[in-house]
Amino acid sequence: MTSSDCPVCRSGNSRILFRMGAEEAGKQLVPAHPERAHLISAQIRALWESDRCAFYKCRDCGYGFARPYTAGNGEIYSTLYYESFSYTEDKWEHRFALELIQSLLLNETATLLEAGAGNGSFLERVASTLLPPGQIYSTELSDPGAKEIRRKGYHCLNKRLPELPAEKLPRFDVVCMFQVLEHMDDLDPVFQSLFQLGKPSSHLIIAVPNGYLRTFYDRVGVHLDLPPVHVGRFSRKTFEVLGKKHGWKIEGVYTESQSYAFKLKKFLSDRYVRVPLMRRTDQSSSKLVRYFFRYSCLLILAVRFLPVLFFLLLPGTGSSMMVHYRKKNPPV
Ligand SMILES: [Zn+2]
Repeated sequence: MTSSDCPVCRSGNSRILFRMGAEEAGKQLVPAHPERAHLISAQIRALWESDRCAFYKCRDCGYGFARPYTAGNGEIYSTLYYESFSYTEDKWEHRFALELIQSLLLNETATLLEAGAGNGSFLERVASTLLPPGQIYSTELSDPGAKEIRRKGYHCLNKRLPELPAEKLPRFDVVCMFQVLEHMDDLDPVFQSLFQLGKPSSHLIIAVPNGYLRTFYDRVGVHLDLPPVHVGRFSRKTFEVLGKKHGWKIEGVYTESQSYAFKLKKFLSDRYVRVPLMRRTDQSSSKLVRYFFRYSCLLILAVRFLPVLFFLLLPGTGSSMMVHYRKKNPPV
């Protein structure tokens, strides 16, 4: 396998979307803290064993992937989230997945697993509407997150999916993963575990950032998938190939529905935090300076990113996407 071969379908037919140096990746990951950015850059360089990384897109299955294809380690995540990390409570993927699971009309003994459960906010929603806490399981790698989930009364294992002791766990009717898969560099072992953990005809619900939107942003020079934090990017085609390879049939693919104004505001705010001049003027004691620079910068950004203003009018340009799989039996 050469360095540009696709980790999902093994095709060598890929193109480079962008290149990024360790210094730049650090700056973009923690834009407001230059000292921590410097530290994280050094950690990234050590992880890559190089100063540079490239992000490719496979022309055959649409998977986007970083080379080096190496997920961030504990050291990098600790620097990134050195203070307690707050998870947004009301997420589209949680609301949408809950409605989807409700529509499945599971029986009362059904079991659910969420991989990478954060602080357990989705589990709480499941427990309040669908299943008793004893039938709800989770994994979470961060110690504070796992502790919080256990405190709330749910099973939580501090392990990666391929390391789960499958023989000690029940088989699941539903497995969910929200904004986790894009961080992983071991998709084959992960999907093999998911297959093992699922009951016959079980459901697998996965939410990731919308690959279609992010590929467009790359074209205008805005790179939101920052390796080594995000090492993968998905499209419908990628999920089809992954499902076929690991025994899952797609039941539906959905994109987050957001208003045009919200999408635009989100794009500008993603850019806004990365403009150093705006951060400096934001701290100015003069109200006039603060407002003048803030709105002039927003105007400049709007003109600079004119294609984005049109692109966001298109359907399917929400921030996240979700795939609903059903297990095929037997696997093919
Ligand atoms: Zn591929």
